[in-house]
Amino acid sequence: MSRDESIIARVAREVLSGRDANREDLLDCARLAGEAQGHYKLLYHANQIRVKHFANTVRLCAIGAGKVGACSEDCKWCAQSAAFPPGRTPAELASTGDLSALACSARRNRASSFGIVNSGLKPGETDFHAVLDALGQIKSDAHGEMRLCASLGALTADQAAELLAAGVTRYNHNIETSERMYARMVTTHAYQDRLDTLTIARDAGMSLCVGGIFGIGETWEDRIDMGLTLRDDIKPDVTPLNFLTPIPGTPLAGAEPLAVREILNIIAMHRIMLPTTDIKIAGGRETNLRDMQSWIFYAGATSILVGNYLTTEGRSADDDLTMIGDLGLMIVEEL
Ligand code: SF4
Repeated sequence: MSRDESIIARVAREVLSGRDANREDLLDCARLAGEAQGHYKLLYHANQIRVKHFANTVRLCAIGAGKVGACSEDCKWCAQSAAFPPGRTPAELASTGDLSALACSARRNRASSFGIVNSGLKPGETDFHAVLDALGQIKSDAHGEMRLCASLGALTADQAAELLAAGVTRYNHNIETSERMYARMVTTHAYQDRLDTLTIARDAGMSLCVGGIFGIGETWEDRIDMGLTLRDDIKPDVTPLNFLTPIPGTPLAGAEPLAVREILNIIAMHRIMLPTTDIKIAGGRETNLRDMQSWIFYAGATSILVGNYLTTEGRSADDDLTMIGDLGLMIVEEL
């Protein structure tokens, strides 16, 4: 074994024994995983860590868009920003009945969580009350068998308390990338604003779902710094990883797609940085991974978002359930 290859094995051993990997070693692992030998070694070890903490279990979740488009913010990857042509349409609010029907359909497809996701910096009064109404309907229609989540942007402490009272036990608010890269991608609000919202959601008593997006021009330093912020400061229960699907009309429309092996390395590095966190593969799975989607679990993922995304379509739930069955994974449906 070369000295370089032994770094991945040593870091994995440390993580398996409960110690945190340091930034320099993590950067070395990512660099080595860029070569074929290192790539397979990284995946092998990420899988060992997944199996130690999660055995053969997997979780499914789904989302529904409560409010779409016309967002005041300028996140460069997003088709919902009114700063770019695709998002310059009047905001659309989903009906309570449509959101509840989506949630019930996801439950039939064995998803155990359903999240309402709104565009916008923060919820306005009308949007917020529409979300509370939909949550009540879903709770009743799904007979309390789904975890309710929300992703509505920045919250006040009062709104966080109202969401909790309405049954929302987990709040999603992604930090997206490193603080340095975030400032290059978003000018209308600051990274610290996102961290403040996470503190408000946690203080209200909700668990946290916090992750990011990849393929926006970030470096491995950005990826690892985001992972270390999650590991050392935020400590989320779930980390969703999204991979850019470039949308015509947005500033990242011409972004070069990530190589499939690089995406698997990103997943594996997150498993090493966040050994006990539920790592969820969310937007961009189908378009970016194509035939290699089933490899996400060997790279360390423990859950997937099923059904459609906010502005792009996902594949059929049947295909995902077949893939999971073929892999011998067991879907956990308890909340
Ligand atoms: S990512 Fe969210 S906050 Fe940013 S433009 Fe899109 S909808 Fe708005």
